[in-house]
Amino acid sequence: MTDKTNYSDNLNKSSEFLRLTISLLAQHKIPAHPHNYQMGYEYVSGRNQALMDDLSKLIEQSDVPSDQQLTTIYKHYFAQDEHFFEVMRQEIRHIISSIMNDFGYSGNQLSGYTNTLKQFIDILDSNTSSETMLHETTKVIEETHAVKQSQQHMEKQIVSVIAEIDSLRKELEQVKEESKIDALTGISNRRAFDAALEHSIFISRENHKPFCLLLLDIDHFKAFNDNYGHLIGDKVLRYIAASLKRNTKGSDFVARFGGEEFVIILPGTNINGAMTVAEQVRQAVSSGTLADKGTDKSYGKVTISIGVTQFRASDLSNDLIGRADKALYLAKERGRNRVER
Ligand code: GH3
Ligand code: MG
Ligand code: MG
Repeated sequence: MTDKTNYSDNLNKSSEFLRLTISLLAQHKIPAHPHNYQMGYEYVSGRNQALMDDLSKLIEQSDVPSDQQLTTIYKHYFAQDEHFFEVMRQEIRHIISSIMNDFGYSGNQLSGYTNTLKQFIDILDSNTSSETMLHETTKVIEETHAVKQSQQHMEKQIVSVIAEIDSLRKELEQVKEESKIDALTGISNRRAFDAALEHSIFISRENHKPFCLLLLDIDHFKAFNDNYGHLIGDKVLRYIAASLKRNTKGSDFVARFGGEEFVIILPGTNINGAMTVAEQVRQAVSSGTLADKGTDKSYGKVTISIGVTQFRASDLSNDLIGRADKALYLAKERGRNRVER
């Protein structure tokens, strides 16, 4: 789902995306009409991972995608958005018509109140009995209270409308975010990684800057699970995920690849830099001792092996993953708790 209001890129950023989009479209001979431009822009800016996935697959299959294939993807993402926004529009229409009803009521009430006040002035100007005066005064006071109450009701109504609209917005954002997060560890999932890797490849080709991929695997984790049980094993996965995040920069991308395997993308980093980062991460994990906070029971140490590889211009994502996997295999073969390239 795309948040259409979220194109907040500044002039520099959007010009950069413009350039990247035009280059992407030209490279695959895709006509740069608004629908294709929108898809291209979402792709190069990395804001819509599912669309990036689909578009990457399409480009991989046929270097020059057909209009029909592109239209299918466009409809899938943006027609779906249309549907969502139609539902949202209906909800907002409903809310607004209920406010307008209330305003209508309040408007009628106010004109009635103005009449009452006018009559009251007339009565004040005339020689009326004190009994009538008392009666009219009571009437004005009652109506004033009623008007005040209805104003308060309106205020409450407006506050609740704002809250309702805000909760719709939050719901939308949450759905969008949850689809990229691994439920167990709270870091990015495989789906988000696939898209991030495609994006890194694209950017690296454009900017001619290096980047590296790390594939990490917990050593003898099956035995750990067998010894202490899967629940403790799950805690270890969370601990490792947190440790990887702690020992990388915000611009690096950390994800759970699946099972007890993790991946890290290091943008703008060559193989030497990546080996250093991998070594730091390995040491950070192996230097910790695992213990149950409640009972102080110790679970010993957990170590990881890491395979590192640098992107080459001819690589597709699977080539990179394949090379990192081979390096990881080498690290396992050479004794584990190691980094290899
Ligand atoms: P190696 O050092 O060669 O990597 O040995 P290993 O035991 O880690 O590797 P193997 O592939 O034989 O076993 C992986 C184990 O990871 C199997 C499974 O028990 C464990 N595992 C995978 N996913 C999860 C998970 O979500 N939770 C838990 N607790 N364990 C998991
Ligand atoms: Mg494994
Ligand atoms: Mg393992």
